[in-house]
Amino acid sequence: MSQNENIFLSVTEVQQRIIDNTKAVDGVEQVDIRHALGRILAADIIAAFNTPPCDNSGMDGYAFRSKDINENQETLSLKIVGQSFAGHPYSGRIAAGEAIRIMTGAQVADDVDTVVMQEHTETPDDATLLITTIPKPLANVRKAGDDLRTGQTFLSKGKKLSPTDLAFLATQGIAEVKVHRKLRVAFFSTGDELRSIGETLGEGDIYDSNRYSIYGLLKNMDIDIIDMGVIKDERQAIEEAFISAANIADAVITSGGVSVGDADFVKETLEKLGRINFWKISMKPGKPLAFGTLGNSLFFGLPGNPVSVIATFYQFVQPALKRMKGQDAVLPMLIKARTTELLKKRPGRTDFQRGIFEQAENGELTVRNAGTQASHVLTAMSRANCFIVIPADSGSIEVGEMVNVQPFEGLIG
Ligand code: AMP
Ligand code: MG
Repeated sequence: MSQNENIFLSVTEVQQRIIDNTKAVDGVEQVDIRHALGRILAADIIAAFNTPPCDNSGMDGYAFRSKDINENQETLSLKIVGQSFAGHPYSGRIAAGEAIRIMTGAQVADDVDTVVMQEHTETPDDATLLITTIPKPLANVRKAGDDLRTGQTFLSKGKKLSPTDLAFLATQGIAEVKVHRKLRVAFFSTGDELRSIGETLGEGDIYDSNRYSIYGLLKNMDIDIIDMGVIKDERQAIEEAFISAANIADAVITSGGVSVGDADFVKETLEKLGRINFWKISMKPGKPLAFGTLGNSLFFGLPGNPVSVIATFYQFVQPALKRMKGQDAVLPMLIKARTTELLKKRPGRTDFQRGIFEQAENGELTVRNAGTQASHVLTAMSRANCFIVIPADSGSIEVGEMVNVQPFEGLIG
């Protein structure tokens, strides 16, 4: 990691540098599958047996042997000899010319191989089945191992476990899995103008809001948080805060005090205590970002403006924290949408404009401006459900053009 204060780096370059310098934390824990929801799998999971374990019916109907089908006949008459219900298999044999009543999920014994759905049959009497529409041989039977074969890796380490995955584990009778331990992240705000909720605002003061966006962003990632409050722009206070944060957390996040020309001591203290890069990023909002290591923890110094904090968190902090959690897919997703408004921009930096995307009546995704695009304005950020990502070299985007949209985490996927 080299340090150069005069060069602007692109968003993707910084993302890559951060990811390259980040690895999964040590430590796994064995948890009950219910507690594994949303956690990151730490070991591959292998199927111990076929699922489904046996051939079974995909329909309510009648099971019989495909050999009984005569292609020249329009209907087929068979003798009903028994029944197979889910959990109550038929125990007898089924000879040529015979059928059994069968329900969805009930076992299909090996001497029958085809199921006709109930709607394609008539039963003139209890023992007689008349098939009025003859199914294709092997129809409506779900084969053993259709879903998983013995020995197959069906969930890979690095996967974030979804509700479906819990069901998937349950089909194999798996009660517990190994997941990466939870991350602990400490954060604090810096600035003499900042007051905490409950305090009275003096002349020129503002309430510390970044501490709450960062809290929410981390909570949404299922991270254990250590909120260290507001630290004054005083050398001693800042140094002590950094040292104690680095001692207890896997990562430390601060906001404010990393701009060039900042009068505070954040930079100085970091240079003394850690291996930190101060980058200028060609993005709007955003720009200054400090990244590196502080003791054994990773450090992110985010800009102070409330919208910049959220934008830089999504682009840089979130991918790194996902990587630290052991997750494989880490970068935010981009989708295409058609803009219904002029999106003003000057060529130069990559814009992360606050947008509202929605589905138009014709099914197409459209996007529009969420309001005033300034990095201290939370109104548009609060209304927005996405960033509209406009490349650095692009100018304004005309109505009707396609743009890249980055939905906020949790909205999709
Ligand atoms: P700085 O990067 O410290 O120069 O801060 C840039 C701007 O963000 C200034 O207007 C600060 O007052 C504001 N700011 C910094 N930290 C916070 C915070 N925790 N909550 C709200 N605004 C902040
Ligand atoms: Mg400041």
